[in-house]
Amino acid sequence: MSENCDSFREKIAGFFGTDLEKGQEKQIQEHIKGCPDCAAFETAMKNEDEQLSSFFSGLQAGFARQEDEVVSAILCIETSRKDHVIAKINSFVDHPAFKLTAAAAVIIFVAFYSVQTLNWLYDLKHFMDVCSVTIK
Ligand SMILES: [Zn+2]
Repeated sequence: MSENCDSFREKIAGFFGTDLEKGQEKQIQEHIKGCPDCAAFETAMKNEDEQLSSFFSGLQAGFARQEDEVVSAILCIETSRKDHVIAKINSFVDHPAFKLTAAAAVIIFVAFYSVQTLNWLYDLKHFMDVCSVTIK
């Protein structure tokens, strides 16, 4: 191990993160050819870099898969909730109590409307009577 191995190893470490100048890259390759320790260091760095890359790409794939799973779970919940609501409405509408209630509501509405109309006719007759009395 020569005196300047440390500075070469710093450059080798930077080699995988950033782009080195062409001259520096050549210098490092020259040094590695003659220095087995730095060659071993470079191999270790290369392995570490590959492991990190595959780790992060695996992590990304994992995130993408989880995202897909979450989206499909949400879609499944939405669909099942919609089906559930439709089934609830159908069972509610099909229930005999609903039909009776609907019929009662119609009868009450018609009765109320009839009474209102009768009141209006009574008021109209009363108004006509008052008018005819006034005219006389
Ligand atoms: Zn060296």
